[in-house]
Amino acid sequence: MDDVVKTLEDHTEITDMNFDSVPQGAQSTARATPRPSQQEAEAAVRTLLRWAGDDPDREGLQDTPRRVVKAYREFFAGYAETPDEILARVFEEVENYNDIVLVRDIPFSSHCEHHMVPFVGKAHVAYYPTGGVVGLSKLARLVDVYARRLQTQESMTAQIADAIKTHLNPRGVAVMVEAEHMCMSMRGVMKQGSSTVTMRFSGVFEDNAAQQAHFFTLLRGAR
Ligand SMILES: [Zn+2]
Repeated sequence: MDDVVKTLEDHTEITDMNFDSVPQGAQSTARATPRPSQQEAEAAVRTLLRWAGDDPDREGLQDTPRRVVKAYREFFAGYAETPDEILARVFEEVENYNDIVLVRDIPFSSHCEHHMVPFVGKAHVAYYPTGGVVGLSKLARLVDVYARRLQTQESMTAQIADAIKTHLNPRGVAVMVEAEHMCMSMRGVMKQGSSTVTMRFSGVFEDNAAQQAHFFTLLRGAR
């Protein structure tokens, strides 16, 4: 199975932890202009409401710009987070456990960077630990760090895998993401229910077909 993604952005460049200051993007491109004020962001939402053909001053829409801007803080909270903290704590007293760890069906919602509409799905994350394991919830949080940014599914898959590779130095990492993209189901080709699958293998998963098969067997096993 080939990697879907061949290139990867360097997530370690994202160092700014303060959401209200100027964050660096998921793709490591520094902003050309300073972050706008909340007032400016709300004004932009009013413009889009008018663009959609509605009246931002009618009763039902009066608080909408404020709500949208607030929702954006949640949708894109990942810009203010890095994997460093999340993956920093490793538990070493696990009876020398060094077999596969797989967390499957981690739900996430993200936004595609081309249309800024949601894509929603599940991530499956596996690795072979060396010298300790991370808390299982940390793998779910790691998925959210990257999901809560403007993304392509391909980049997100690679970023999750590479963060684990960089921080935990495992014998291998496998990440598979399955998602439905609203930009395909609500617009454009209007294909509802189709799902996109991306994966990234490294280490033993990349080198060894039997390990890939093991990953898929566990993934599809009894639930
Ligand atoms: Zn899109």
